[in-house]
Amino acid sequence: MRKLNELIWHCTATPEGREVSVAEIDRWHRQRGWNGIGYHKVIHLDGSVSDGRPIATMGAHVKGHNRGTIGYVYVGGLDKSGNPKDTRTDAQKATMIRLSQEAVRDYGIRKISGHRDYAAKACPCFDATGEYHWIASGMPSKDPARLIKSRTVAGTTVAAAAGAGATVEAAQDAIAGVQNGLQTLSVGGAIPIIIGLLVVSGALLALYARWDDAGRPSLKEMVS
Ligand SMILES: [Zn+2]
Repeated sequence: MRKLNELIWHCTATPEGREVSVAEIDRWHRQRGWNGIGYHKVIHLDGSVSDGRPIATMGAHVKGHNRGTIGYVYVGGLDKSGNPKDTRTDAQKATMIRLSQEAVRDYGIRKISGHRDYAAKACPCFDATGEYHWIASGMPSKDPARLIKSRTVAGTTVAAAAGAGATVEAAQDAIAGVQNGLQTLSVGGAIPIIIGLLVVSGALLALYARWDDAGRPSLKEMVS
């Protein structure tokens, strides 16, 4: 796999509402003398995704910036009169966020930008760098809806942390229990030792008793 660090967004520069297939883009790009479609993924009007060039293959989408980058394109970018316009449908916007997140997660993408950041073009007809910065940086979005979502995530994290705290408390109780258990075990472990000592003492006393009376020293003599 080639080393990747950036996802660059494009539009097909086609009128609002007009669908475009991978085959059509492939034809356009072959006419330019390229080795087929230059983008890696195509996002259709309904939010569905078609694969273009394999991710592992260098794309042909931004002059001088194809190395280390992947290029995704959404269908649209012009109004009915052919002027640049952010024509993304809600479905396309949702898919584009998901694909951007997956690119960060799966391909090590650290920067998300738009074609216009590298050329005097309108493409992709929206501020991809500004809009997707939060994805590449891992920061919450400026978009209020997304911010609420991220706060919900934060709330869930706090709840999870509280749960973990409770678990730690339980674990501490368990550890205390184990320690008590160990103390019990110590007492239990002492019993065989005491029995063992009694057996040995008894045996010694028996041996002492068998000693010849004449040669047997008194207990007092032995102790003193
Ligand atoms: Zn472009």
